[in-house]
Amino acid sequence: MAQVCESLPTEQVTLAADAGAARRARRFLDDHWCVEHAALLRPQAELIVSELVTNAVLHGKPPVRLALDCEGAEGVTISVSDGDPGTPEMRRASPGAAHGRGLQLVDVLSDEWGVRTRPGGKTVWSRLLV
Ligand SMILES: [Zn+2]
Repeated sequence: MAQVCESLPTEQVTLAADAGAARRARRFLDDHWCVEHAALLRPQAELIVSELVTNAVLHGKPPVRLALDCEGAEGVTISVSDGDPGTPEMRRASPGAAHGRGLQLVDVLSDEWGVRTRPGGKTVWSRLLV
């Protein structure tokens, strides 16, 4: 089982589901990122958070929540949940399409990722290993 960072607790935020959500999610990373353990993973994390939050705002339902777990020397897990229990699809987007490539990007950038559904919502999580 992954070690959870001893210097940082699980950090969570609820984001207003509007056009500024991805920007606020990146600011949340600025404030809560664990530089001690996960400094190298930051560029991927910024992209993944932006995609997952944008997907949740565009295709999910409020409330949109972002959680960040540092797993110490192993890496970090990012989770974005929303109030729509439907499983997101990995759409095949044409090159240049503005939307629909989010989960393909998450698939490429993540070491592991998945979707957990529950009554009244779902969580898409992405794990990045050091
Ligand atoms: Zn840490």
